[in-house]
Amino acid sequence: GPKMTARDVTVHYGPKKAIDKVSIDVPTDVVTAFIGPSGCGKSTFLRTLNRMNDTVASARVEGDITLDGEDIYATSMDVVQLRARVGMVFQKPNPFPKSIYENIAYGPRIHGLASGKDEMDQIVENSLRRAGLWDEVKDRLSDSGTAMSGGQQQRLCIARAIAVDPEVILMDEPCSALDPIATAKIEELIHELRGRYAIVIVTHNMQQAARVSQRTAFFHLGQLVEYGETS
Ligand code: ADP
Ligand code: ADP
Repeated sequence: GPKMTARDVTVHYGPKKAIDKVSIDVPTDVVTAFIGPSGCGKSTFLRTLNRMNDTVASARVEGDITLDGEDIYATSMDVVQLRARVGMVFQKPNPFPKSIYENIAYGPRIHGLASGKDEMDQIVENSLRRAGLWDEVKDRLSDSGTAMSGGQQQRLCIARAIAVDPEVILMDEPCSALDPIATAKIEELIHELRGRYAIVIVTHNMQQAARVSQRTAFFHLGQLVEYGETS
């Protein structure tokens, strides 16, 4: 079955309805693009998939969202664990103001994924390799994660998400702050990660959706108006 499901999901910010009865499946074998004009609710809906809106006091979520069949809004859900299983990459690259190594090691340390330094080094190396960044940074892991180009910072953020062994990676307009060459690298990376992780990418760019996704969800005024194979 699908990695995630959403059924009749409605999201309010106070009296404002930002998402209206949206239902989708997020499979692992294809990349899903959320597309639509600014303000149509793409980002809101993406954020409900890992409870990122929990911190917005006015936000209220109705409907059912599952991860491997488990209700992610159940009171028994460990939200810290959920956000490792469902990783998020933002529009503006946001590495921690720490070393490249520490950007990757932080999550695995919190989640107890490495039993010693060798294992942590391996996680750091593997995560950076999967994000296509290892060869560029292997000789300067002590440099600050914020001292790299925008495209490298965004790949570092993808590596940071990968480091805690996620099942789903949510990307909210991950290329809109990047130049065309850095954008092409991220798009190439999404192709390489496809199948290993369930990937959802929010974009307002139809051409990008066509390049990176196999399934598209079109949003308009908070509603899912079209959903199917990317054409
Ligand atoms: P998109 O990602 O498609 O641009 P958003 O999900 O950001 O759309 O926004 C959907 C609607 O919800 C918009 O009308 C926006 O103004 C509103 N909205 C988004 N975030 C908040 C918030 N924190 N509080 C109140 N309204 C919000
Ligand atoms: P420091 O506290 O020394 O500044 P950093 O957080 O900057 O440490 O991270 C540097 C770390 O990267 C060191 O612990 C070092 O052992 C580790 N390291 C160096 N080379 C490699 C490598 N090839 N693979 C994995 N880890 C490495």
